[in-house]
Amino acid sequence: MMKKIYIFFLLFSLLYQHLEAQNQSKGFSITPLGVKGGLDEANLSAYLVAAKGSSNYICLDAGTLNAGLQKIAYKAPFDQLSAEEIQKKQIKAYCITHGHLDHLAGLIMNAPNDVSKPIYAFPSVIEVLKDHYFTWKSWANFANEGEQPILNKYTYQPLTPQKEIEVPGTGLFLTAFSLSHVAPYESTAFLVRNQQDYLLYLGDTGADTVEKTNQLAQLWERVAPLVESKQLTSLFIEVSFDNSVPNKALFGHLTPMLLMQELNKLNKLSNGQLKSTRIYITHIKPCNNCTQNIQQQIEAANNLGLTILYPEQGKTMVID
Ligand SMILES: [Zn+2]
Ligand SMILES: [Zn+2]
Repeated sequence: MMKKIYIFFLLFSLLYQHLEAQNQSKGFSITPLGVKGGLDEANLSAYLVAAKGSSNYICLDAGTLNAGLQKIAYKAPFDQLSAEEIQKKQIKAYCITHGHLDHLAGLIMNAPNDVSKPIYAFPSVIEVLKDHYFTWKSWANFANEGEQPILNKYTYQPLTPQKEIEVPGTGLFLTAFSLSHVAPYESTAFLVRNQQDYLLYLGDTGADTVEKTNQLAQLWERVAPLVESKQLTSLFIEVSFDNSVPNKALFGHLTPMLLMQELNKLNKLSNGQLKSTRIYITHIKPCNNCTQNIQQQIEAANNLGLTILYPEQGKTMVID
């Protein structure tokens, strides 16, 4: 009799776990807090990402926080919350691609208002935060290491390349890849996983041909199987300048031409399946007609018929 009851409970708990897993939505919800690559301090790279249906976000880069949060406060899907409440309650972690101001100024400036949370980054990026920003000469040391006195609000979580970790409280998993951003300076690509779905976010990066590295080639090798199996739902990648800017003046960034060269490589590695991944263009550097030029040049070079999209500050995108 006891044995039968035991088996019954075992089956019941397995069924329950299965239903629970089904309940957790696939896909992602993404809200850009800022989308540009410089100049406009109210609209710099920062993307809130959660599992679809969840309000527990990671923040990929944090160039702009407050201006973006003001834009989304009290609007769906943040209906009941002020900017401050979204920052405190719903951002569970920051993931920083590299140490340039347009990727972390919002994090530094808004630290006084924040609550305890982790900062995920490569050791090289944590060094920049520790040595240059979370210091008492620049601002205050809100982190858990570095210059005394230590305020201990943020906890540095150094990442190992290509090793997946879980971000507690979000249901998301994170894998970091090293990128070259004016060699030898390091930037990061974050591969975010929700169950079997993936999203890839690249920080600033040069093309392999210009940087004389194979960092992007290695990344494409790793994600090509996910493209082929249609698990890579979306790819966020930078195009900072239009094609008129010569290679020597790119400083570790992409143009439409270089973007398309790289995407062609990824498409080939994934046996022509890149069409099923949405491509989001980030980090356009403002100048006269830059956005328009870049959009036209990408469209003209889009020989693969890819879905190219342009994220907008404060506009939530739901990806199934
Ligand atoms: Zn940048
Ligand atoms: Zn940069």
